[in-house]
Amino acid sequence: MRHRFIGTLALALLVLFGLSGAASAAGKLKAVASFSILGDMVRQVGGGRVEITTLVGPNGDAHVFSPTPATAKLLASADIFLVNGLGFEGWMERLETSSGFKGVTVVASTGVETLAMDEGHHHDEHGDGHDEDGGEAADPHAWQSLANGKIYVANIRDGLIAADPEGKAVYEANATKYLAAIDAEEIAVKEAIASLPPERRRIITSHDAFGYLADAYGLEVISPEGVSTESEASAQDVAMIIRQIREEKIPAVFLENVTDRRLLDQIARETGAKIGGVLYSDALSEPDGPAPTYLGMFRHNIGALSAAMSS
Ligand code: ZN
Repeated sequence: MRHRFIGTLALALLVLFGLSGAASAAGKLKAVASFSILGDMVRQVGGGRVEITTLVGPNGDAHVFSPTPATAKLLASADIFLVNGLGFEGWMERLETSSGFKGVTVVASTGVETLAMDEGHHHDEHGDGHDEDGGEAADPHAWQSLANGKIYVANIRDGLIAADPEGKAVYEANATKYLAAIDAEEIAVKEAIASLPPERRRIITSHDAFGYLADAYGLEVISPEGVSTESEASAQDVAMIIRQIREEKIPAVFLENVTDRRLLDQIARETGAKIGGVLYSDALSEPDGPAPTYLGMFRHNIGALSAAMSS
């Protein structure tokens, strides 16, 4: 009797989980994206055919993410894993190996012309920091140029097609539409920056995430912390930046959604530069926040930069 009951229960559970598993997947491609900005791009291209999980969510810092056994389990059951590359996800290779992931891996930044990490944490408008080899010293924040964003989208589209050939027409159509929207946004960004006085196109951010934005659209961005949030600014770096803000009359310093604000509060206090708001660098905002999508992030950031530099 008891055995029969357990047998029936086991069967019931099997049916239940079997059904719910099938229902939740519903034939969708299971994608895992490393961080929220990439997750949005995958959502735009994948549309309804793809079920996306993002490892580092809104306002999260992918530089310092620590995968757990649950992360490995999640990845093990995925069909496609999409990452930025360029050393942004320092934890990626170990995770991939430990999870036994056997699906398609897409490195979204493949093919971008990388910028070298600048030792002075300082980008200028002349684009002299190009690193044609794309070696280990590349700045990973390539998504901050919309032209690079288009390369990401093409790589995502091709990866989705490789993982799910039946969806080819859908992925191609979605990507074409999305690429057109990115083109339109880039025109708007260029117009907004062109309307600013050239001598005011200088800003301070806490970590060096806007090198590609600066290089593509003609800004100068100075950051005390370097390209990873893991490195801390030295007292010497901070003193140098404070001197530079005073001498060059740099109008504004910006907080970032993924970094601590104390250092920039201190710099603002000591120099009289104003806090120009929050820039979204390495993560989107929550869905109801000011930067819920990749293109929404550009709209917000350029709006904040324009407001600070024009006044
Ligand atoms: Zn970063």
